[in-house]
Amino acid sequence: MSVNQQAHTGPPYGQPQPAYQRYQQPGYGGQQMPGVPHSQYGVYNGPMPGYQQPAPPQGPLRTPPTSGAPPPTSGALLPVGQPAYNQFGQGDVQNGIPASAVQMPSVSQPFIPGSTPTSISQLSSFQQYGPSPTGAQQLTNHMAGMTIGSVPTSAAPPAGVGYGPSTSVPPASGSFTATGSGLYTPYSSSQGPRPASMTHGLPPTSLSQGVPLAQPAFSGPPLSMQRLPSQGAPRPSTMQSPPLSGQALAGLPASQPNHLASPPPPQQAMSGPHPGPPMTGLQGPPPPSTHPSQPGYQIQQNGSFGQVRGPQPNYGGAYPGTSNYGSQPGPPPPPKRLDPDSIPSPIQVIEDDRNNRGSEPFVTGVRGQVPPLVTTNFLVKDQGNASPRYIRCTSYNIPCTSDMAKQSQVPLAAVIKPLAMLPTEETPPYLVDHGESGPIRCNRCKAYMCPFMQFIEGGRRFQCCFCSCVTEVPPHYFQHLDHTGKRVDFYDRPELSLGSYEFLATVDYCKNNKFPDPPAFIFMIDVSYNAVKSGLVRLICEELKSLLDYLPRGGNLEESAIRVGFVTYNKVLHFYNVKSSLAQPQMMVVSDVADMFVPLLDGFLVNVNESRAVITSLLDQIPEMFADTRETEMVFAPVIQAGLDALKAAECAGKLFIFHTSLPIAEAPGKLKNRDDKKLINTDKEKTLFQPQTNFYSNLAKDCVAQGCCVDLFLFPNQYLDVATLGVVTYQTGGSIYKYSYFQLETDQERFLNDLRRDVQKEVGFDAVMRVRTSTGIRATDFFGAFYMSNTTDVELAGLDCDKTITVEFKHDDKLSEDSGALLQCALLYTSSAGQRRLRIHNLSLNCCTQLADLYRNCETDTLINYLAKYAYRGVLNNPVKTVRDALINQCAQILACYRKNCASPSSAGQLILPECMKLLPVYLNCVLKSDVLQPGPEVSTDDRAYIRQLVTSMDVAETNVFFYPRLLPLTKVDVDNDALPAAIRNSEERLSKGDMYLLENGLNIFVWVGVNVQQGLIQNLFGVSSFSQISNTMSTLPILENPFSKKVRSIMDMLQAQRSRYMKLIIVKQEDKFEMLFKHFLVEDKSMSGGASYVDFLCHMHKEIRQLLS
Ligand SMILES: [Zn+2]
Repeated sequence: MSVNQQAHTGPPYGQPQPAYQRYQQPGYGGQQMPGVPHSQYGVYNGPMPGYQQPAPPQGPLRTPPTSGAPPPTSGALLPVGQPAYNQFGQGDVQNGIPASAVQMPSVSQPFIPGSTPTSISQLSSFQQYGPSPTGAQQLTNHMAGMTIGSVPTSAAPPAGVGYGPSTSVPPASGSFTATGSGLYTPYSSSQGPRPASMTHGLPPTSLSQGVPLAQPAFSGPPLSMQRLPSQGAPRPSTMQSPPLSGQALAGLPASQPNHLASPPPPQQAMSGPHPGPPMTGLQGPPPPSTHPSQPGYQIQQNGSFGQVRGPQPNYGGAYPGTSNYGSQPGPPPPPKRLDPDSIPSPIQVIEDDRNNRGSEPFVTGVRGQVPPLVTTNFLVKDQGNASPRYIRCTSYNIPCTSDMAKQSQVPLAAVIKPLAMLPTEETPPYLVDHGESGPIRCNRCKAYMCPFMQFIEGGRRFQCCFCSCVTEVPPHYFQHLDHTGKRVDFYDRPELSLGSYEFLATVDYCKNNKFPDPPAFIFMIDVSYNAVKSGLVRLICEELKSLLDYLPRGGNLEESAIRVGFVTYNKVLHFYNVKSSLAQPQMMVVSDVADMFVPLLDGFLVNVNESRAVITSLLDQIPEMFADTRETEMVFAPVIQAGLDALKAAECAGKLFIFHTSLPIAEAPGKLKNRDDKKLINTDKEKTLFQPQTNFYSNLAKDCVAQGCCVDLFLFPNQYLDVATLGVVTYQTGGSIYKYSYFQLETDQERFLNDLRRDVQKEVGFDAVMRVRTSTGIRATDFFGAFYMSNTTDVELAGLDCDKTITVEFKHDDKLSEDSGALLQCALLYTSSAGQRRLRIHNLSLNCCTQLADLYRNCETDTLINYLAKYAYRGVLNNPVKTVRDALINQCAQILACYRKNCASPSSAGQLILPECMKLLPVYLNCVLKSDVLQPGPEVSTDDRAYIRQLVTSMDVAETNVFFYPRLLPLTKVDVDNDALPAAIRNSEERLSKGDMYLLENGLNIFVWVGVNVQQGLIQNLFGVSSFSQISNTMSTLPILENPFSKKVRSIMDMLQAQRSRYMKLIIVKQEDKFEMLFKHFLVEDKSMSGGASYVDFLCHMHKEIRQLLS
């Protein structure tokens, strides 16, 4: 082992940021990277009609690495290129879908005029759906019409969007990581059913008994088999129940069938089905003095379905007032309570949307169309607007004026996932190559050519849809217009007819006017005593030997262009020369961590195939070399610095994979103290727990972003390690953070390896810049996510993977018009894993409204919650947590009060009336308020809170949905002969039966709860033991048993795992066992141990807040 030092050349950090100014007017260039074929995306070359169907960026299928790799003798030299890993060879499994599975029309395949440039096969499949593209819209209107009794039903589908709180929380300079929807397919394990995250049909739950939706449970394609319920049929609202004795229709106005009242018990009753337009309403206690009695639905007090309910102490009245809300466990029980079955049910709303919207593709040709819920499985057909998989908005109808927006308090935000994976049935964005001249752009605002640009003067010029500036059409791009003013090549060009597409970037879009080199991956392994002793170091090294064959290839490359490098570290850093010509790897130690430098250039970053023997030898030797280490003091910042310097020296972007175990207390830059202090909770200093303890890491992150150095962090702590500080570089560089507390090989190995495999394999855009342009009248004002911003408009991302979302908030700067609507264009410039510079463009058009009712009719509550959670989670950095909670409650009360005042038909103030699209706002909001970040229980660690905060900030809407309101499935209702999942049930203990088993998932954990009275046979079938008492709650996987029930449950688990971007930890919970408290924490409709309100209580509280605002 030689130490080979080189002079530190003091590299200038703070390289120029890729700014948009540089992208103007592409001049020369446009050729491809030498040796980099167009891959993954189809190519569109000029006006020739024909798109190449790209290979769907599907996760590779690969068998889990086994120990079958021939481990060379430690330190022995293997011939370069020895096919040591041919069992995972490219011929068998690939990074990406096998060619045979992909339809690849030839480039010259004619494009069918008059249709959108989706693939031919896709078109044919869509044709089966029959109904016109407007079907969904009609349905939406229909639904809206039914539910908002007071809103003029003649109103067109416009919508509006209002605004966030006027007191805005100062933007944090940071952002956080999280991962994406469930559409990615990890390579390992049997997949089970198609991993679309929105697949399962839920048969009617107990709440929908009597609801005439006898729809068969839906479980994925073929969608064409599904039928919409007849649109003309009266659709019961979610709150209806079968007529029961004791129910009364208490003289309710026909237009408001579903009001629920909670006046004094004697007259309480539930509503029955009503054919008229239902309204979601709830009556709270009558306001003092006025309105002694109201017509309206009244609540049946106890179990409208004849269920026997246990006592529910402390219902209602738990709110002494806004100011105190949630800060303490509930005050004394109120005199009465609401029937939980009578208040809006998330399960029912999800079910209804699936039934109503899951059977037809969502066609994006209509402006301002609200997409199906994220929990609904649907296909998307791009006809000019970006798929909701890329962009979801809080509202699809924006108020025309700022005043109106402020009045409603509805935040206007878009949750954008620019590199989202699509299901295999959908076509990834086409790649458009305009050659040397590059993309066509507006002269003034630099917006990219898109379907909303208006060609004028016979096609010689075009008027920008964003800024109205008129730009000459370059001669090579000229085309005649047809009689409608549309270019005759409209359907031949993705950028004229589609919502999402890519441009090949010219050299003008590259740093230093030079096409980038392919990125590099550097694996940096903690070799401290803890890491070695737990078996972690050996595990990582073994895994890497095979995993390196599955680096992203950016489409159809035969082998990945990504180079790799290796570092180990404790108090010092060890670099490895793995040059292919070496007989065995060489280690170089850098002990001067205060002045980090990379001691070698040649041989540090290598091609995996060329250096395979040396790499394998190294990975064999590392666990041996440090087997006897006693070192427990670690450095951290110098590790990142080293990785950054290595990428700088290689002049490329890349990713660091850092595996780290403990608080970095060794003497070095970025050294940290243990400053954990749970006593700060509920004090004004609580926010410091979320803030980094030094700005050192923030400065380091800035340097990383400048280089395109993305940092992924795998943490294995046995105690506090200050996630809030260590995570700074990760979230500012767009990286991912994973945490395995008290890591144990036996129980955590599978989860860690699955996460690592997925993380290494997923497609990443490097050295990226995102800008969101808007049409006149609104502009992007605030951003949430894992990124860095050095100015107010450009979101800089050292890396952006397919799971990360960026949330953008908009505000008015002028009036909007109903005629022209509002437009968004998100442009992401990035370097693909193959080293190709690309621009990905997403366009979305929204409606604008002058009526508040139109705003409320076109909102998307799941997206609203995603935004509100991110807003609140950023707020805790600078405000007391209680202030943040109160602000959330206040904002939502204002949203609902504005609706009540301006949109609902006149009714007594004692009625709670919720907009149909927002009837789940209270229940979901309560889940956010009770979450570990905003209201931690005593068992939640400071690191966990920082970790969750960071994850949520990059979550997409599907992820926040299941994270805040977990999915709960009764396992004994599983139909072993059917692919469908059992119907989900509401997250409340009173819904659980002692004789049943349940599965609960929230994207991070899967619980299996076993009731004490579960049949012995089921226990035997699932756990392989003969009695309840023998079930081990330490198992991390279910035993593989050859019976239909076991197979079915395991296949459900596999399917759920495949939907999530992280491998969920399995926790077995036996009823009345000590772990049950952990499980109950996720029964989010119940009162929580940490003082969080039950759903019923919270709804009453919201009602009170709203009434105060109205009075
Ligand atoms: Zn413009």
